[in-house]
Amino acid sequence: MILVVNPGSSSIKFKIFNVKDQEIAQGLAERIGVDGVLTIKYGEKKFEEKYNFKNHTLAAKEIINNLLNLKIITKLDDILGVGYRIVHGGKKLDRPILIDDNVLKEMNACIDLAPLHNKAAMVTIEAFRNVLPKTKFVGCFDTSFHATIPQVNHFYPINWEYYEKYDVKRYGFHGISFEFITEKMKSILKKDNVNLIICHIGNGASCCCVKDNKSFDTTMGFTPLAGLMMGTRSGDVDPSIISYMAGKKNTTAHEIVDELNKKSGLLGVSSVSSDFRDVTQSLEKGDKKAKLAFDIYKKRISDIIVNYANQLDGKVDAVIFTAGVGENSYLLREEAIKNVKIIGLEIDSNENKKSYDDFTKISSAKSAYPIYAVRTDEELMICSSTKKIIK
Ligand code: ADP
Repeated sequence: MILVVNPGSSSIKFKIFNVKDQEIAQGLAERIGVDGVLTIKYGEKKFEEKYNFKNHTLAAKEIINNLLNLKIITKLDDILGVGYRIVHGGKKLDRPILIDDNVLKEMNACIDLAPLHNKAAMVTIEAFRNVLPKTKFVGCFDTSFHATIPQVNHFYPINWEYYEKYDVKRYGFHGISFEFITEKMKSILKKDNVNLIICHIGNGASCCCVKDNKSFDTTMGFTPLAGLMMGTRSGDVDPSIISYMAGKKNTTAHEIVDELNKKSGLLGVSSVSSDFRDVTQSLEKGDKKAKLAFDIYKKRISDIIVNYANQLDGKVDAVIFTAGVGENSYLLREEAIKNVKIIGLEIDSNENKKSYDDFTKISSAKSAYPIYAVRTDEELMICSSTKKIIK
């Protein structure tokens, strides 16, 4: 079995897959450092209990204890490997990798690049090392799929010191999802080599231009704040706004960046919510701010589709919508595609509204390129990378 772990600063999400890649359990240890709740769903059953999770080590211990008690695993050796989702791999960790002391050192060196996320990952790895001392651990990085982005797309037009001394470049994120969708599309389209425009539209959102199966460009940048408008993140804004607003509000640049991350995007513009469903509900009631939020949101996606079609010289095998909003909102898909006016994309409204299993084609016969909605599965991707590495 493979345990897949998604570490957060106060939570640990996990899933267990059997050798056939079937999910047999999933769970969440949350409120770590506050009090603690552990939930495990397995088959039709659900386990839930309150704990005192003073730290990640105690949470990891209880996760494993309960997997044994519930007989989801019979002994520690049943877990052949643990795959971790790690947000930032920096410049060097550019593929899934067996975690040893050197890799941990390298991960430590890039904590500055994603302080909250990477610190949580380090603490969680250490916690599971204590309970599973003999098990192999694999790190899967959200940045690594984008290691292939050419310099013309990853180099910011600033001076070399930023890049060489301080590692400032476009890293890109959501790479585990983009890799999953690329593999899935190869099998759906029955092609070994694909060019794709993938729109991962969840609470966090980014697009990826995939050329010959590899990431060629993406909208997130040095951090996940860049690119599209998101649930609470602004996406691209003029960087001078930061020092200007810090001066006006007599606060620090750090505080303003925090507002761009947490109080902007759908939440900031609509003044309603960061949740896309809430924003569309207000929009349907005629709320003008919600309408503006929706219009900016879809416009940024449409603009990128045109940009990426251009970067692919028009050789696009498919445009894909995925993640919470992309998978579920026919309205967003329809409106974003309607807003792409120059490359002849067309949605089939009926197909677009149908419910589906893991993927569905939603374009009309007239569309220049096929358009799909595809359900992403980052945990399954991590499971598959982990299996490959521990072999
Ligand atoms: P993340 O993983 O980035 O936290 P998700 O991929 O889970 O986010 O996406 C969350 C977003 O998906 C929310 O804005 C939510 O409103 C939206 N969403 C989820 N289900 C639906 C639905 N049925 N229709 C429209 N939007 C949905």
